[in-house]
Amino acid sequence: MAFEGLADRLQSTIKKITGKGKVSEQDVKEMTREVRLALLEADVNFKVVKDLINRIKERAVGQEVMESLTPGQQVIKVVKEELTTLMGGEHSKIAVSDRPPTVIMMVGLQGAGKTTTTGKLANHLRKKQNRSPLLVACDIYRPAAIQQLETLGEQLSMPVFSMGTEANPVDIATKAIEQAKEEHNDYVIIDTAGRLHVDNELMDELQQIKSKVKPDEIFLVVDAMTGQDAVNVADSFNDQLDISGVVLTKLDGDTRGGAALSIKAVTDKPIKFAGMGEKLDELEAFHPERMASRILGMGDVLSLIEKAQTNVDEKQAKALEEKMRTMSFTFDDFLEQMGQVKNMGPLDDLMAMIPGANKMKGLKNAQLDEKQLVHVEAIIQSMTKKERHEPSIMNASRKKRIAKGSGTSVSQVNRLLKQFEEMKKMMKQMTNMQKGKKGKGMNF
Ligand code: GDP
Repeated sequence: MAFEGLADRLQSTIKKITGKGKVSEQDVKEMTREVRLALLEADVNFKVVKDLINRIKERAVGQEVMESLTPGQQVIKVVKEELTTLMGGEHSKIAVSDRPPTVIMMVGLQGAGKTTTTGKLANHLRKKQNRSPLLVACDIYRPAAIQQLETLGEQLSMPVFSMGTEANPVDIATKAIEQAKEEHNDYVIIDTAGRLHVDNELMDELQQIKSKVKPDEIFLVVDAMTGQDAVNVADSFNDQLDISGVVLTKLDGDTRGGAALSIKAVTDKPIKFAGMGEKLDELEAFHPERMASRILGMGDVLSLIEKAQTNVDEKQAKALEEKMRTMSFTFDDFLEQMGQVKNMGPLDDLMAMIPGANKMKGLKNAQLDEKQLVHVEAIIQSMTKKERHEPSIMNASRKKRIAKGSGTSVSQVNRLLKQFEEMKKMMKQMTNMQKGKKGKGMNF
């Protein structure tokens, strides 16, 4: 999970101070010392940590905390606000040119995830903003790179512009923009060449493309898992190209978070997107405040809702609501729900977005085990249609048959049946509660 190591440490540090009705300077000193160590261990840039800690200290022993009614919580608020500012404050949106197409140039070192991100970004633009991008293959040095982009284009059913490996990247980019104008593509995303290290030849070529096509955005793609190296790469690309934003990839595997927390402070360029996995829909708009919330274990309900909105079919959701209301929810519905949840990505990542979920003891091991989900699925699939709709007919021999069919045990089958009944009970309570609320509303 993203930031797991850092989040664990910060959360145990701030827990000590949260409930305090009175916060002394000594408390603040101890807390900031631990926060400092946690950040340094997370590979956050040394100077960035120093400045951040000074700001937190100054505010935490200041009036806004000491004179508040809940000083402990106020300190946490300060920490959260400062982490948010550190990562850029507001979410930074993608540019839109008033004379389409909007041109985005993707740059970065080899292996950072540039080509994959080009595809993800195009997918994002179409899904979230209804745009029609043209992908452009300007990495002429690695024939496989052109192929890779073409495959992505096929997967996404999106056009890819390429002129093979013989043409000059500046010409390719120029011609691609001409074609985009003719074909009414409103975005052009240029996948440029990468190298293993920053070198002059690469920078020259990128500068030439930049000065010819005058892109609206230059996105530097860096691998979050490389920590301070990513920050240094960002610094040198920015020096030479004056990038407009950063895409941090592989955040899903970054337990430390050093790059995410340092890049904005060091380069003064915002992180615009975060790659959260290899799949084409695993790109998230980067929201500093939501990220700070996640790091501090306060959850990120907004991102969770957005994720659900793109992955859950609205019609299906309505039908489900109806079933919950009429109490006709069956194991088939349950199976369908599980499929949708799985589409949303690894459960651990989802749980990190739910406020307080990390504090529920045992949750991690009990319900989050994805292997168990596979068992649950197998059990339901071994049930007959009738059993799925009328679990009350389940007797000992049926349970035995199901356990055998699914490669599980009778006690696992029993457990699922019990959980299902409890879930139905809970749904009933929830719908009753909603009815109650509605009733009240009408009295006013
Ligand atoms: P390029 O050389 O910069 O174009 O890099 P590629 O796009 O070929 O990506 C290199 C590897 O990183 C591929 O195996 C990608 O699947 C993987 N990758 C890219 N972005 C992410 C991400 O956000 N998360 C994970 N886990 N893998 C990623």
